Amino acid sequence: MYMGQEQAQYCHYRKSKTGKIHAYTRKKTVLIFQCDNCRGIFKREKGSMDPKRLNNQYYHVCGNCDAKKFAQSKGVEARKIWDMPVSSLKPIGKL
Ligand SMILES: [Zn+2]
Repeated sequence: MYMGQEQAQYCHYRKSKTGKIHAYTRKKTVLIFQCDNCRGIFKREKGSMDPKRLNNQYYHVCGNCDAKKFAQSKGVEARKIWDMPVSSLKPIGKL
């Protein structure tokens, strides 16, 4: 699940030609997700993500979880829903 984004500041050190150490900061936009498998919060750099995936039409799975296994289990869930008899009287919200 896409939760939002935050600014993170990274401090870098660079050695100049004269041997002096220069500190400089870089701001990065970090995206916050909740893993749809284990519910853990994880972050990704904005540059490393496809902007098309920054919404909740997609599932987001953290690095600790197996995205392929997760996708398979989702496939099974979807099948359970679609295998329901059409004549079922269950309200749509209970599916
Ligand atoms: Zn996870």
